[in-house]
Amino acid sequence: MNSPHDTQVRGACPHDCPDTCALVTTVRDGVATRVQGNPDHPLTDGVLCAKVSRYPERTYHPDRLLYPQKRVGPKGAGQFQRVSWDEALTDIAARLSALAAQRPEAVLPYSYAGTMGLVQGDGMAARFFNRLGASRLDQTICASAGTAGLMNTLGGKVGMKVQFFAEAKLILIWGSNSIGSNLHFWRIAQEAKRQGARLVCIDPRRTETADKCHEHIALRPGTDAALALALMHELIQHDWLDHDYIAQHTLGWAELRERALQWPPERAAEVCGVPVEQITRLARDYGTTQPAAIRLNYGMQRVHGGGNAVRAVACLPALVGAWRQRGGGLLLSSSGQFPVQRQALQRPDLLGERRPRLINMSTIGDDLLRPASPEFGPAIEALVVYNSNPVAVAPDSAKVVAGFQREDLFTVVLEHFQTDTADHADYLLPATTQLEHWDVHLAYGHTDVLLNRPAIAPVGEALPNSEIFRRLAQKMGFDEPCFAEDDQALCRQAFGDRVDFNTLLEQGFASLPLPDAPFAQGGFPTPSGRCEFLNPQLVAQGLDGLPQHLPNRELPDPQGPWPLAMISPPARNFLNSTFVNVNSLNKLETEPLLEIHPDDAAARQIRHGDVVRVFNARGEYHCKADVSARARPGVVVGLGLWWRKMGLNGTNVNQLTGQALTDMGRGPTFYDCAVQVSALA
Ligand code: SF4
Repeated sequence: MNSPHDTQVRGACPHDCPDTCALVTTVRDGVATRVQGNPDHPLTDGVLCAKVSRYPERTYHPDRLLYPQKRVGPKGAGQFQRVSWDEALTDIAARLSALAAQRPEAVLPYSYAGTMGLVQGDGMAARFFNRLGASRLDQTICASAGTAGLMNTLGGKVGMKVQFFAEAKLILIWGSNSIGSNLHFWRIAQEAKRQGARLVCIDPRRTETADKCHEHIALRPGTDAALALALMHELIQHDWLDHDYIAQHTLGWAELRERALQWPPERAAEVCGVPVEQITRLARDYGTTQPAAIRLNYGMQRVHGGGNAVRAVACLPALVGAWRQRGGGLLLSSSGQFPVQRQALQRPDLLGERRPRLINMSTIGDDLLRPASPEFGPAIEALVVYNSNPVAVAPDSAKVVAGFQREDLFTVVLEHFQTDTADHADYLLPATTQLEHWDVHLAYGHTDVLLNRPAIAPVGEALPNSEIFRRLAQKMGFDEPCFAEDDQALCRQAFGDRVDFNTLLEQGFASLPLPDAPFAQGGFPTPSGRCEFLNPQLVAQGLDGLPQHLPNRELPDPQGPWPLAMISPPARNFLNSTFVNVNSLNKLETEPLLEIHPDDAAARQIRHGDVVRVFNARGEYHCKADVSARARPGVVVGLGLWWRKMGLNGTNVNQLTGQALTDMGRGPTFYDCAVQVSALA
């Protein structure tokens, strides 16, 4: 119940979720009492997920970091003492300045989507590291294979407007547990369902979303391209094709046709581990229903062939002419449609002539352990981590931990809480949450820009990331005027005159003026202007220019040491490793769990609730067995992503995942992981 003493402040959800909700925070006497969805923002529609509805609990959590701290115990022990901001920043600046004078590439920033904001993400921070000449981070850890697949097919991170899924008559929800991780799309899909649409979920796990779709296709991890090619085979065989659209708006049809004809449903059924009839029925539905829409998500691209899998799926709408209608086509990410002024915001010109090396965040485990060499350059000697928790989220954790425990590595962590990564800091700096700072946001699941105003003063001595880098720049003598610009100025610069800032100030969001059916007349943002079935740039690089099925590198072998495939999607009430320490949410998730099919459990004498050992050559993870048909036979599901220190043996699922990269985009292969499971005595 609001009182006359309450104020309401408009904001934006900063988390790594396609929905980028508009928030309204109720504040009484300077305290945030409630966070709700903004009812005026059509896509948010007044509704938030359970996670962000608990934001006051997270913001005022008794474990919030409230002041700067300096390490006093051994590396990784998480023992700190309080210091002043001045002491911390003076010492950090001295350490980084010494490296900058000799070998600036020995400094590595490490950040991702802990906040998706353009200002508190890589705004002032990017200016700081550009000026310093630090190594650049290849930000691959979530979506880069899919991004590359989409770029190589459609020409950009572009697609359907999410609201028009409501008009579709068939929706394929491919590699997405939408109820858990794309809630507002799910509401739209429900609207379509009420209007008679058929919903098909394609996912190795029987998720909550799969439960509520008309059909679930539980394919093996890493076999999505095989399924897509078999669908093409059937579209060709039955002539469920839009020949006019193909002729006018695609490139490489003859070659794709030949490739697809190599994939009869029987072959794909064998590879995917699903009945032939499911494939033929899906092909018939897709080829004969209009409009047909695909909501693709990033789960399916975290495997060896992830880029090719996205390419294969992204070819489907052009084959049937689904793009002709606004309720047809595909959406993986809409973020390429936002006119972000990155040059103004991030100031790459501060690099001058320098072109620092690129370090892949997905191989941080190996790279932290690499010595200096002519090929690699200097060893990494200083790490500045913000908006990320790599000790918990990066693959091959044993190596990541070994790297973070190097005595000669100087590590600064900007955080809200003492995460696994924060435990390894030399300096741990308290950062503000979204309720305490300015920011501006694009989205990857819709096409509205959102402004975030601070609702409350910073908690404790916390500072916005931008202010921490601003003060560090000052300490290091970086005197360019851009380091004096405040956060509101950065918010304005993020989109320049391409988005009306007054609209953002007045209503908190602004919709991009985009066509309803962007590719109804072709006009894809590829070099050819066509949907590129055959990609000439890939061919020029000596690669297969057509989408293909690339099997997982770690195919489980029933007779071998690692007979089970493991995937590790986020638990419904967590978002990667965020929210794991929010009590009301981790109570819902109870404890680290491994879902295992009853047949696989019985073969190992594992009963529901047993503590199990999940292991492979990289390490082992202990958790409780959830014997459940949510896991398909042969595939176990390690729901993530618990902090390591909450694990039964001080590890999490990433103790098992590897550092091999995807076929395109240099992405991680979290779901390309073979393991064995046994009951612990
Ligand atoms: S996590 Fe997603 S669904 Fe939840 S509030 Fe944020 S944007 Fe909305």
